[in-house]
Amino acid sequence: MTSLFTRAVHAGERLPAPDYTPTTTPIHPAVTYLYDAMEDLDAVLGRARDGFVYRRYGNPTTHAFEVALADLENADVALTYASGMAAMVAALLAAGVQAGARVVAARDCYGATYTLLDRLLKEQGVTTHFVDVTNLDEVAAVLRATAPTVLVCETISNPLLKVANVPALVNLAHAAGAMVIVDSTFTTPYLLRPLEHGADFVVHSVTKYIGGHDDVLGGAVVTGRVHEARLTDQLKMLGANFSPFEAWLALRGLKTLPLRMRQHCASALQVAAWLGAHPRVAQVNYPGLPGHPQHAVAAQLLQAPDGQSAYGGMVSFVIRDAGQAQVRRFLERARLLLTGTSLGDVYSLLLYPVMASHRALTPAQRALVGIGEGLVRLSVGIEEPADIIADLAQALEAD
Ligand SMILES: *Cc1c(COP(=O)(O)O)cnc(C)c1O
Repeated sequence: MTSLFTRAVHAGERLPAPDYTPTTTPIHPAVTYLYDAMEDLDAVLGRARDGFVYRRYGNPTTHAFEVALADLENADVALTYASGMAAMVAALLAAGVQAGARVVAARDCYGATYTLLDRLLKEQGVTTHFVDVTNLDEVAAVLRATAPTVLVCETISNPLLKVANVPALVNLAHAAGAMVIVDSTFTTPYLLRPLEHGADFVVHSVTKYIGGHDDVLGGAVVTGRVHEARLTDQLKMLGANFSPFEAWLALRGLKTLPLRMRQHCASALQVAAWLGAHPRVAQVNYPGLPGHPQHAVAAQLLQAPDGQSAYGGMVSFVIRDAGQAQVRRFLERARLLLTGTSLGDVYSLLLYPVMASHRALTPAQRALVGIGEGLVRLSVGIEEPADIIADLAQALEAD
């Protein structure tokens, strides 16, 4: 009889493939996949047929999530990464960014995207020109002057919630010979599918709305078939793979993404309108409010599956005459609303840009981008909107 030591290693493993199909995708942690015939292993390694051999090259659970995300984006392919930032790096490399290349990017893009371009890629010989993507004349002029490899923009910016006119930006960039990367983290495929408007790559932080429960860190690049081989090949070298455990959670997250987004959008509109009427609030930024500078663009571009305009779950507002001390007291008084650095969760989350996302900037630099001492960002969760409003009311009105 085989030794207990040997049986302990192999017993129960690699049972014959069953003829039943589980309803949901299993989590496949295996790093290595076996084939009876070396011919099959050879074919998989040579990409002559589909299959899995080693986890950094692909994984069945992660692949299931990629298939699902590509489906929701009406796209050919999605590739996933260990974080949204890893996905952004992959998209930039796949778009052809290399030493000597020029990039045009939104000035108010996500902080780590800004420093990736302005510091890490700059050190590698890439020059980035930052522009106000809501000023199409400025974008056109900079594209003409710099002939960049790629234009990088976000659908809705953080924390001022400016809306990018994606179709117009795609036209300008393509006319200048540049590819377009759209970070659609704030919109998700519920509100916008940028590839339908001609974008070349969509980047998601899966960590946010797609995961949705504050328990996944991940990213995705969604694109056309033409870019698949390059991205797949690069991922083998980058090694920033999305884990099957987290892909399983993200796949679960996708199932309720439309339900959650419907609630995020409806509640955010209600909360933004309430904030706008509050005497202690000097200003509200929400694309769904008629006074928002890109309200018309947003109404046309951002549509829920029922064809109605919807504007996402992010709101920011300025507490009237508040300095850092007053804002900190407001954050501490909030009970239902949590102060956390993420967004897009089922939980409502507050963030103070001066203390968190825009901490590294001087007050003068912050003023230049329109971020004052009294500005607070709210990621509206899926709790009952009346409860969210009640908590805002007590936190705002206590002093
Ligand atoms: C969070 C975020 C990222 C980075 O994603 P990680 O998953 O944290 O790496 C990129 N873009 C936007 C718009 C984000 O909100």
